[in-house]
Amino acid sequence: MDHFLYRDGHLYAEDVSVAEIAATVGTPFYVYSTATLERHFRLFDEALDGMDHLVCYAMKAASNQAILKTLAALGAGMDVVSGGEYARAKAAGVPGERIVFSGVGKTRDEIHAALSGGIRQFNVESEPEMAVINEVALELGVVAPITVRVNPDVDAKTHAKIATGKSENKFGIPIARAREVYAHAATLPGLKVIGIDVHIGSQLTQLEPFRLAYDKVAELTEQLRADGHEISRLDLGGGLGIPYERSNDAPPLPTEYGALVKETLGHLGCEIEIEPGRLIAGNAGLMISKTIYVKSGEDRDFLIVDGAMNDLIRPAMYEAHHDIVPVVEPAPGVEKTSYDVVGPVCETGDTFAKERIMAPVNAGDLVAFRSAGAYGAVMASEYNTRPLIPEVLVNGDQFAVIRRRPTFDEMINRDTIPEWL
Ligand SMILES: *Cc1c(COP(=O)(O)O)cnc(C)c1O
Repeated sequence: MDHFLYRDGHLYAEDVSVAEIAATVGTPFYVYSTATLERHFRLFDEALDGMDHLVCYAMKAASNQAILKTLAALGAGMDVVSGGEYARAKAAGVPGERIVFSGVGKTRDEIHAALSGGIRQFNVESEPEMAVINEVALELGVVAPITVRVNPDVDAKTHAKIATGKSENKFGIPIARAREVYAHAATLPGLKVIGIDVHIGSQLTQLEPFRLAYDKVAELTEQLRADGHEISRLDLGGGLGIPYERSNDAPPLPTEYGALVKETLGHLGCEIEIEPGRLIAGNAGLMISKTIYVKSGEDRDFLIVDGAMNDLIRPAMYEAHHDIVPVVEPAPGVEKTSYDVVGPVCETGDTFAKERIMAPVNAGDLVAFRSAGAYGAVMASEYNTRPLIPEVLVNGDQFAVIRRRPTFDEMINRDTIPEWL
């Protein structure tokens, strides 16, 4: 459920008219709903009630500081995957002890920054990385808390580009080698092993892959404890999918996911960490775009909108579906038509939807791309020298621009011309 609903025929974000925001900030733009972000965070938090736990929002999904502050105020930790995200989380006021550092290629500088600024734990992805974390910790005279990310060789049954838990993927260490790697970690004085990490992919629409992975983690926990390691924290990653197509079957709910976690891992007495990104932010954001032209082609009509693949790359990158709805609610019973919905960028890949059946749209009409809150603004680029589009946060009847649109001058002046030109 989200807080983007029609009221008297106009789309609202909570208590603010989307058309009013468009009139103020111009199109295209992203708009997020505070109430939806909060609701999604609480769903996860409550799903793990009764277990010692921390929900660490995977901020790569949508990393504007206003979003981070909204979630941190509810007690969220953050899962970061780069030095930039670490700095951003700190800038948003998140304390180091609530920041988890994931990612397959943490550099020495990033490790140094996190150890100096405070970190809850590193999720270590390889032995060479483990060696560097140990070295940097010893240089700084601190002990780095770590988990080791294991790759359970489980098919997440999701899009190939976002499956991470198969042995052919670059992530983690093979679970079969885990005992050996933990034994080595225990000999490194700059490290303190505190648990196990696993993350098998994103946009999972079934619980079964999670069950397979968590059963393996439970077994490993007992083996490692028997080997003499202290395993007190299990980081279970993110990955629960969201319903991009309202007409389709819904993915499992956080409550069902929480019940699975309790069932598979509850008996171990570990602190549970989860790192949801998409489920918290995805349906908490829309991309709003204006129709520039309706163009009649040979065998189809094109809706040419002012948003493009550089603003929302998911359709081009993952063949992703986004529901597209008009901001002015169509009259009941209006006859639907079919459009290819495209942006202005000079690539055929700049296509949001093919043969989409929807109510007729005219030039100048606003349309909303639903479920655009996660992996939307954060993956945007300035391709075609198109400015990064603004982000707006709504809270009840208020809204604020939380990242403004840069001017052409700001964009162009980032280039520096060598003196020989
Ligand atoms: C991307 C990622 C997540 C978040 O995945 P979602 O599908 O957005 O929930 C969590 N943990 C790690 C390590 C990730 O790489």
